[in-house]
Amino acid sequence: MAEKLKIKFGALSSMQGEAVRDGQLLIEGDRILSIEASSQGPADIRTLDLSDYFLLPGFVNAHCHLSLSALKGKLQKRERFTDWVRDLLRVNAAVTFSERLEAMREASQEMMRSGVTSLGDYLSQAELLPEYANFPFRQILFWETLGFKSDAATQIVARLEDLLDSFDAGSESLRSGIAPHAPYSVSPELFKALRKLAKRHSAPWSCHVAEFPEEERFLKEGGGEMAAFLQERGALDPNWRPPGKGPVAYLDALGVLNQMTLIHANHMDMNDLDRIASNKASAVFCPGSSQWFGRRELLPIPELRARKIAVGLGTDSLASNESLNFLRELRIASATFPEISHRAWLEMATREGAKALGLNSGILAPGRPADVIGFRMPADVEDPETLPFEETRQNADFVMSRGKIVWHPHAEPAS
Ligand SMILES: [Zn+2]
Repeated sequence: MAEKLKIKFGALSSMQGEAVRDGQLLIEGDRILSIEASSQGPADIRTLDLSDYFLLPGFVNAHCHLSLSALKGKLQKRERFTDWVRDLLRVNAAVTFSERLEAMREASQEMMRSGVTSLGDYLSQAELLPEYANFPFRQILFWETLGFKSDAATQIVARLEDLLDSFDAGSESLRSGIAPHAPYSVSPELFKALRKLAKRHSAPWSCHVAEFPEEERFLKEGGGEMAAFLQERGALDPNWRPPGKGPVAYLDALGVLNQMTLIHANHMDMNDLDRIASNKASAVFCPGSSQWFGRRELLPIPELRARKIAVGLGTDSLASNESLNFLRELRIASATFPEISHRAWLEMATREGAKALGLNSGILAPGRPADVIGFRMPADVEDPETLPFEETRQNADFVMSRGKIVWHPHAEPAS
């Protein structure tokens, strides 16, 4: 029998229904047993007194590249996206394996302390895989795949399939997903073959889509800085013709939009929103990264949510963000769209992000994962849901991931 734990709380937002005050959360092993509105109950269970804390589900960082953490502070903001990519490739190539691991560990700790318990991470180096098993997150590792030359598709997919077969042990907290990198770096043939592979493995499916204006221009007209970049890398397929459509319409026409988690999705028209809804696809807003790049056009969050499309939040990588602190992301998100309520941001940071990744975390309810975070509440707090947005706040005050307390700086020393 897994051990039971009773957590007394001052307030709890389960992210479905009303907040509960002065109750208790019962946990067995890594699952939630019940949430009760009274603090009475069995006395023979180990009890943690968080009666001055506000609890909510752990945050879901729906898009990140932890393996790029060693690039923190090393890249300049550039006018052209492709110049940033050139810098990234050059600087990343000079990172040693141990520097990379060290930076990943540090960044993952900061992310966890800021309340993240679920993560969707893009990864391309299989040798980093053992490190992920040590992170305190429920994770989907999206194998990031590139290849713009159509004749390379078969070989690339065969290699990825070998990797999935060797890795996919079916662990609930560490699953493989598949991520074609972007519409300008993946051939139509590769897109379709990867979609089939993802279906065969029931793997979550994600892609960077409609991030910046030049991507749209390249797909509609061809040429421009994207074509020059592919040419320079020897990656431009001589037979490729621009599909003459925007990124979302293009992916829909290819038949690969189904259940896709679209990262960024900044450049869309109303028809694209319908395409996303009818394909049961979802979107991820990356507040810090969008701010870092100075993106002028962003995804229409209220319109997406009005269509019941799941919108999650992601930090993206330290190559285009200053930190992986998720509380900072919440503040930037809220400052970028001041008309959106704190409650709505918390939904995107938890339940909706989980939905976008196909995870069952992000909600506190019986049978759901015991992924719980907490913030100490001043006695006079009116709306505890404002606490994660406090200006100077760096960390959550309590983080439980998979039923284990991984961060609790104010804990009373055990007597
Ligand atoms: Zn990304």
